[in-house]
Amino acid sequence: MARASIDTMTYEEAIGRIPDDPVPEFWVGGLKALEERLQALDRGSLTELAVSPGGRPIQQVTYGEFEDLESRANFNSAVASRDPTHYADTDERTKPVVFFIGPVHGHEVEGLTGLCNLLSIFETGRDLRGRAQPTLRELADECRIVVLPCGNPDGLARFKPDSLRGLTLADLKFWGQGTWADDSLIGWPDAKQQHPMTGDNVGFLGCYFNDDGVNPMHDEFFDPVGVEAPTILGTVRREAPDVTVSLHSHGYAPTLHRPKYVPLELQAASRSINRTYNALLADHDIPRLYPHDVAGESGRPPPYFNLVSAAYHISGTTGVLHECPHGLAGEEMCQLSHEGILDAQLTLYEAVLRHAIEPAEP
Ligand SMILES: [Zn+2]
Repeated sequence: MARASIDTMTYEEAIGRIPDDPVPEFWVGGLKALEERLQALDRGSLTELAVSPGGRPIQQVTYGEFEDLESRANFNSAVASRDPTHYADTDERTKPVVFFIGPVHGHEVEGLTGLCNLLSIFETGRDLRGRAQPTLRELADECRIVVLPCGNPDGLARFKPDSLRGLTLADLKFWGQGTWADDSLIGWPDAKQQHPMTGDNVGFLGCYFNDDGVNPMHDEFFDPVGVEAPTILGTVRREAPDVTVSLHSHGYAPTLHRPKYVPLELQAASRSINRTYNALLADHDIPRLYPHDVAGESGRPPPYFNLVSAAYHISGTTGVLHECPHGLAGEEMCQLSHEGILDAQLTLYEAVLRHAIEPAEP
């Protein structure tokens, strides 16, 4: 018998559905666990960049020297001069720069866990399971790495389950996109109908949003409303990263999305990372989807511009938009274990670092 789908949920019901079993030791599913990891840093330098509307710090960790390139112009002016090196001559650097943007959607803690494990590898050579990760450590030593582990601390603070693994699509909708005032689940992509997500028709504010209802993925980039997106883009502008990775999660197998409104060459670079990633996932026996396409922007409705698009337009960076499984229960879901989720994250980082060090032909 088909089960009726759940389309309403109250906060009490959502809390009641959280399983009792604790998440594994290596999992980082909340602000407290994140803060513990950041306080344990020794090699990396930790900077507080900004404070969220809810009064929570937005923090960044760096490894490797910052190489100050002489910059005479902002990126789009330099490109218009027909020479982007007037913004940043990245060939002058001794090491490539890779920027990892942790989840800007607070419930997508798979990326937070992945990045905290990556920090542990940079610090000790081991992930938080205690497993030696010499390849990642060696690749990282050849780069300057910038990690902003949590792109939306307000959203993360609102997330109570620590992990959505074993929960259902309805739980993802509740914690992710939230509810309307009548307790009906908003879901994706309807959560983008109203922005900022404020007003009498809003029930539980999903972890997509900061405390002012702003989804950093879709801030008003030319006149920002929130603090998260401009803070992240400030790092992009200063660092001119070779590769910028935005970490997200969904119900399905791990995949990259096509970076939109960027030149075809950079879409092809992302696809080439996608191919390397898929090959590494296959080694781990983790399900995967086809690499994304490379395409001009067209169609009705047109493709959307987002934080990853914006990152290109201020720096020329190759944007990578990753979607990781939450490990939801349900037939069509990718039911990866916590271990498998961490492996998928670390595998992505390996594919990205390999590309930054030695870009493959698209
Ligand atoms: Zn997301």
